[in-house]
Amino acid sequence: MAKVAVIGGGIFGATAAVFAARAGHQVTLFEQYDDLLQAASGINQYRLHRGYHYPRSGDTARSAIQAASSFRKEYPDAIIDTGRHLYAIAKEKSLVSGKDFLAFCDAQGLSYNIVSVPEIVNPAMVEFVIEGVESRFDSDLLRIAVKRNLSDAGVEVRLATKATAATVEGYDRVVVAAYASTNSVFSELTGVSDEYQYEVCEKPVVTLPDSFGQTDLVIMDGPFMCVDPLGTGGTYVLGNVVHAIHASNVGQAPNIPDTLKALLNRGIVKNPAVSNFDAFIESGAPYIPALAQAKHVGSMFTVRTVLPRTEKTDARPTLVTKVNDKYIKIFSGKIGNCVMAAEEVVALL
Ligand SMILES: Cc1cc2nc3c(=O)[nH]c(=O)nc-3n(C[C@H](O)[C@H](O)[C@H](O)COP(=O)(O)OP(=O)(O)OC[C@H]3O[C@@H](n4cnc5c(N)ncnc54)[C@H](O)[C@@H]3O)c2cc1C
Repeated sequence: MAKVAVIGGGIFGATAAVFAARAGHQVTLFEQYDDLLQAASGINQYRLHRGYHYPRSGDTARSAIQAASSFRKEYPDAIIDTGRHLYAIAKEKSLVSGKDFLAFCDAQGLSYNIVSVPEIVNPAMVEFVIEGVESRFDSDLLRIAVKRNLSDAGVEVRLATKATAATVEGYDRVVVAAYASTNSVFSELTGVSDEYQYEVCEKPVVTLPDSFGQTDLVIMDGPFMCVDPLGTGGTYVLGNVVHAIHASNVGQAPNIPDTLKALLNRGIVKNPAVSNFDAFIESGAPYIPALAQAKHVGSMFTVRTVLPRTEKTDARPTLVTKVNDKYIKIFSGKIGNCVMAAEEVVALL
C-alpha cells in the first residue's frame, strides 16, 4: 500500500483518487479551489463523446467509443440520455465531406440515421443532418457523484489547498492531474515541463426558443457552431470553433489576457466585462437562424489544454505517463476517458 497524493480535483484527478483508494492505497486529493470540478471539468460542452465529433481522428473516436461504457458504469446518475444528437455537415468550408463523414461513421461502427433537416437548421447551408446515439452529462450531478465516490472510497479531500513541493514531500507517489496547470505543478516538483497548446475559452449560456427542445446540434466540421442543452434547467451552452477562443498560445503556460483573469473558472458570469457573444450569434445564425433570438444569460470561461499542432486531426488523446518512480502525469482528452485513465494510474502505482 502506498501513500498517494493526487493533485487536481477535476474529473480526472478525482476519479484517479477513487480508483487508487479502492485498490488499497492511502490517498489524499488536493484541489486549489474551494470545491471540486470548478475548472475544465465543470466548464465545457458537456458532451459524453462517442466519436461522431472526431471524423479526422480515428484514434480519438475509437478511444471515446471504448471509454464511454466505463464512464457510464462509474457515473450513471450524471448521464442524460434524453434528447436528440444531431450532426449537420456544412455545405461549404467543412473539412470533411458528407460522403467521408458517413464512411467514417460506418468504419467506426457508429450508428446513425439521415434525418430530415430540423426546423432549427437552415437547409440551404447544410449537405445533410444525421442523428447519432450519444449522451451528455450534468456537471452538477457529476460533482455529487464524485464526492460520494471519494467519500465511499475513503479518500481524504483537501479543498482550497494549492499543492506545492512541500505539500507532497511525505508521499510515496504523486499523481498530477492539473490540466492547464500541469506544467506549473511539474516544473516546481521536478523541473520537467512539456509544450502544450492553451486556449482561453468562453462558453456563453443562453435561453433559446422552444423549437430547440432537448437537441444537441453540431455543424460540422470546421469553423462552426454547436448548441447543447445545459443540464436539465432549460438553458443552453454555445460552442464555436473560432469565437470561443479569446487567446491561444503554444508554450509552457497559458497566456491569459489581464481582462479575462478574473473571469476564469467562476461558473456562469453574468454581464461579463469581455464577451464574444455577438460574434457567436452572428456567425451561427446563417446555419441556425433562431440563434438570433438567443438571450445571453452569462458566460463561463476556462482554459482548454491540448497537444500542440493538432489542428489537422483535432485529436484529443488521454495520456497517462510514469514520469519517474514518484510522479505520474495525466494529460486528459475527453471526459469519458477518466475511468480508463484512472485504471492506468492504478496499474502504474
Ligand atoms: C471549452 C471546453 C469544452 C470542452 N468540451 C468537452 C466536451 O463536451 N466533452 C468532453 O468530454 N470534454 C470536453 N472538454 C475537455 C474536458 O473538459 C477536459 O479534458 C477535462 O475536463 C479535463 O479534466 P481534468 O480533471 O484533467 O482538468 P480540470 O477539470 O481542469 O481539473 C484540474 C484541477 O487541478 C487543479 N489544480 C491545478 N493546480 C493545482 C495545484 N497546484 N494544487 C491543487 N489543485 C490544482 C485545478 O484547480 C483544477 O480544478 C472541453 C474542454 C473545454 C475547455
